[in-house]
Amino acid sequence: MTNDQLQAMRDLRAEGYAVIIWTPEELRGASVNRVQDRSIELGHQVIDDLADPDFDRPPMSQEEYLNDGGSTCPFCGSEDIESFNPQTYTNIAWAACECNSCHKDWRDEYTLTGYSIP
Ligand SMILES: [Zn+2]
Repeated sequence: MTNDQLQAMRDLRAEGYAVIIWTPEELRGASVNRVQDRSIELGHQVIDDLADPDFDRPPMSQEEYLNDGGSTCPFCGSEDIESFNPQTYTNIAWAACECNSCHKDWRDEYTLTGYSIP
């Protein structure tokens, strides 16, 4: 395998593709087409076993998040979330948030509602 081919494989993997290469030595004379067809068939079973069940699940709506008080992850519903690095700009504020369960991130957004005298 050439360095360009290896780099192309690394690039695909970096983009999230699963890339499997069987060398002619590993195939030991087996039909390339039959190995590919069977690998794809078995690969679907492996993916079904390993896939993230929440992969296609849309995040909760803005209304649901507000009703929940921003206390759960909008992607998976976990309460194991962290908020950090609050910042403000004129009448808005935001804070970075991260879920310790599904590792997705988002920002909480706040608006100025008034002032108080301590
Ligand atoms: Zn989550």
